[in-house]
Amino acid sequence: MDFFSDFSMTIDGAAARTVRQMDVVNPATGTPFSTAPVAEADDLDRAVAAARDALPRWSAFDIDARRAALIALGDAIDAECDNFTRLFVAEQGRPAPMARHEIMISAQWLRDVAAQELPVQIVEDSPERRVEVHRMPIGVVAAIVPWNLPVMLSIWKIAPALLAGNTMVLKPSPYTPLCALKLGELSRDILPPGVLNIISGEDALGPMMTAHPGFHKISFTGSTATGKRVMEAAGRDLKRVTLELGGNDAAIVLPDVNIEEVAPQLFFSAFFNSAQACIATKRLYIHEQIYDELRDRLHAIAKDTVVGDGAQPGVEYGPLQNAAQFSRVRALVDDARAHQLTLLEGRPVPEQGFFVPITLVDNPPETSAVVAEEAFGPVLPLLKFKDIDDVIARANDSDYGLGGSVWSSDIALATRIAARLNTGTVWINSSLECGAHIPFAGAKQSGIGIENSEAGLLEFTQSKTILIRKRAPAPL
Ligand code: NAD
Repeated sequence: MDFFSDFSMTIDGAAARTVRQMDVVNPATGTPFSTAPVAEADDLDRAVAAARDALPRWSAFDIDARRAALIALGDAIDAECDNFTRLFVAEQGRPAPMARHEIMISAQWLRDVAAQELPVQIVEDSPERRVEVHRMPIGVVAAIVPWNLPVMLSIWKIAPALLAGNTMVLKPSPYTPLCALKLGELSRDILPPGVLNIISGEDALGPMMTAHPGFHKISFTGSTATGKRVMEAAGRDLKRVTLELGGNDAAIVLPDVNIEEVAPQLFFSAFFNSAQACIATKRLYIHEQIYDELRDRLHAIAKDTVVGDGAQPGVEYGPLQNAAQFSRVRALVDDARAHQLTLLEGRPVPEQGFFVPITLVDNPPETSAVVAEEAFGPVLPLLKFKDIDDVIARANDSDYGLGGSVWSSDIALATRIAARLNTGTVWINSSLECGAHIPFAGAKQSGIGIENSEAGLLEFTQSKTILIRKRAPAPL
């Protein structure tokens, strides 16, 4: 397989080519380096037809055969880890060691999900009757993923959906289609035709998928604004939805932390992937007793941190992934400047490409755009607090409710604070950690439904109750 050219879609287990191609841009240079197919409506129709055709056979497979296929796909990804890493850096921008990490985690995720069970629940087993709850596949799943973690978020959908016996049509973001297309190519030798179809396209393809009557479920990860459109479209024929959407996560740092120890962890929690992570720390609340010291420590780290082309050795953080995001984040910085907020910048960044310096904003008003909006870029507001009730209220004062974290050596106190945060996940003395066995969900406008864990697996199933009458009911 040539990993760096000849990108084709996978439909019905075979390469599918299109008349039109779209440019794929390397964010470190801002210039196109490759092209990807642009699917039209008839390509989508063929992918859906293939997935529908494969569904009865795949769902009738023994679950152990489906497990084996997922494990084989994980092994195939591992075997191509170097190639995937190079391609990932070129299209997504992340420095190579962190890109490699996403590839390796994704391969392992397939193995971890393969080990999960689809339970049959016995809710009653009395002399009169036995009531069992079984889990059926939902059918054909439309998977739509964003550009920030393009491989891992695809696997979060592929692995449980296929284990549960569904078939799928997956669409990567138009900004990062290439690794997903190669994943499709790898799968052709492993999965039966039609089980996993991977198609790429421009902005029009997502809405075409959500409107397509051939799907039974949409599993979507992306922004809250798009999530609302997806749900509206799904409502027309009652497709099931799982929506993993945006966040504006608060980290709350209590005065008893070891500043030297937590500063690098907080920095990473905010700036991993150049802050393009749904669960990145996007508002950092620091107790007033340690505010100045921690702010200065974070600024010192920013001044030491190398931001550049992820393909170069020694680079720690990459560019923003695309021109639109670059403009958005620069507009937030301009807005902060226009409001005379104090900006503490990190090292200078390359001029070419979509680079923004790591920027801390020193105690801006809660109402400023940089606090209220999901930046999704390396601009982090540091906010001072002194009262715990007040900081909890400020952290919860958001339409988002994805994640959040509490940092303290007093675990009992941190746990009490965690209980009062209205989010799908709270980390204590940690952040960003996820696992195939750990439920991941968004509260409020950060999502609907759950990914990962048994609960996430069950979202790819339809509940089916079987009631067995053992003894005729007594006459009334
Ligand atoms: P986006 O919503 O613009 O796009 C996501 C995907 O949806 C892309 O594949 C896009 O082509 C497709 N799409 C766009 N319009 C559509 C429509 N009308 N119907 C169907 N599909 C459509 O998001 P993005 O900019 O790619 O990603 C960044 C956002 O994703 C951030 O808000 C981030 O917080 C969020 N995100 C959430 C999670 C999570 O698990 N909660 C994980 C990663 C990213």
